[in-house]
Amino acid sequence: MNARLLADGKAKGNYMVKNVLIIGGGIGGLSTAIALRKAGINVDLVEIKSEWKVYHVGIIVQGNFIRAMAALGIADQAVAEGFPYFGVKFQTLHGHTVAEIPGIPMAGPNYPTDLGMGRPALHKILSESALEAGTNVRLGTSFSEITQNENSATVTFTDGTSSEYDLVIGADGVHSKVRSAIFGDELQPKFTGQGVWRYNVLRPADIDYAFLCVGLQGGKCGFIPLSAETGYVLLVQSEPGNPHHPEDKLADIFRERLAGCTGVMAELREQITDSSLVIYRPLEALLMPAPWYKGRVLLIGDAAHATTPHLGQGAAQAVEDSVVLGELLVRDEPLPNLLNEFMQRRFERCKFIVEGSIQLGEWEMHPTPEADAPGLTKKMIGMMAQPI
Ligand SMILES: Cc1cc2nc3c(=O)[nH]c(=O)nc-3n(C[C@H](O)[C@H](O)[C@H](O)COP(=O)(O)OP(=O)(O)OC[C@H]3O[C@@H](n4cnc5c(N)ncnc54)[C@H](O)[C@@H]3O)c2cc1C
Repeated sequence: MNARLLADGKAKGNYMVKNVLIIGGGIGGLSTAIALRKAGINVDLVEIKSEWKVYHVGIIVQGNFIRAMAALGIADQAVAEGFPYFGVKFQTLHGHTVAEIPGIPMAGPNYPTDLGMGRPALHKILSESALEAGTNVRLGTSFSEITQNENSATVTFTDGTSSEYDLVIGADGVHSKVRSAIFGDELQPKFTGQGVWRYNVLRPADIDYAFLCVGLQGGKCGFIPLSAETGYVLLVQSEPGNPHHPEDKLADIFRERLAGCTGVMAELREQITDSSLVIYRPLEALLMPAPWYKGRVLLIGDAAHATTPHLGQGAAQAVEDSVVLGELLVRDEPLPNLLNEFMQRRFERCKFIVEGSIQLGEWEMHPTPEADAPGLTKKMIGMMAQPI
């Protein structure tokens, strides 16, 4: 064989990552499966849920998410399934606009700067694309053990089978078991002091933009359009002591907390009637110190950098992780070099998002004269417009 020898004597092609296991089939895991299949890598993906469903509310995404989806070849589907809009308005509780932050068309002039998307719609696009690209998906399955040596990682699965991989990617979310198994249990997500309340509503025909209302004690409320017919109301507020709210009272509590609103926000509030459809989540955040890999196991998405939704960037950061990995793993270079480059390209960006989001929540809970949510949001959009 006439293989060209690289500097350390390895034949060309010997470093190539050929088969990867992704643990977790959420936004980050599925995006990574698509990116790696495009790079010609064999991908197994295990997802612990046997029914591959996501809950019914939506997310806010911005230009860098659309740009990353374009890199995966699925931006058009995302825009078609979402509600495109341009920038965000900051308003009072009575509907007066106090600041307007334009978005940046990061995916090019043919794409919107912002998108409201139902989580189920996003999951459908990502899961169908990952399967069409040839990802080998196993539902209702997780790992029970990961061992590794210099050349491979061996994973034993909960169904008793085991396989060898060049790289294992932990994309199993904020409470990552991969993180615990590889890095220990010391690093845990922290409750930030606030919770988020969300409820799907009918979209008023003239509200074709997203708005956030300031002036609510300990937080903010707002509306995000999701489709021609629907949108969702959100409320982010202090939750002293991280209480458990009674399931059958969620709609009443949500409405009471919006009692001071007038105008559109008050109209939207009156649609919040069914407690079983209220999605309430206490907010948690986590930033893994670098590096996010040990040997041949790498963490991505919320497993490494879980943010609160204040900057609307959690999903975008998970998809950006996948795009960068897809670009790096086509290269025939030692894995530690590639994973180190991954950290160079990802750490500071994700750190800014996690810390900036926590800062916004702190300002909402403990207002100070220098608090400047529109300013920080604008700075974030400028930073996210930079190439990854
Ligand atoms: C209240 C709230 C609101 C948010 N709003 C927004 C928003 O508006 N915009 C935005 O961009 N981001 C938002 N986010 C953040 C966004 O949802 C996350 O950043 C994003 O989902 C991260 O994707 P992920 O794939 O890393 O994790 P997840 O989406 O959590 O996916 C993890 C997957 O791994 C699976 N899994 C878990 N454990 C195992 C295991 N042991 N084995 C196998 N599989 C496993 C899970 O079932 C899941 O499918 C919000 C988050 C919260 C909490």
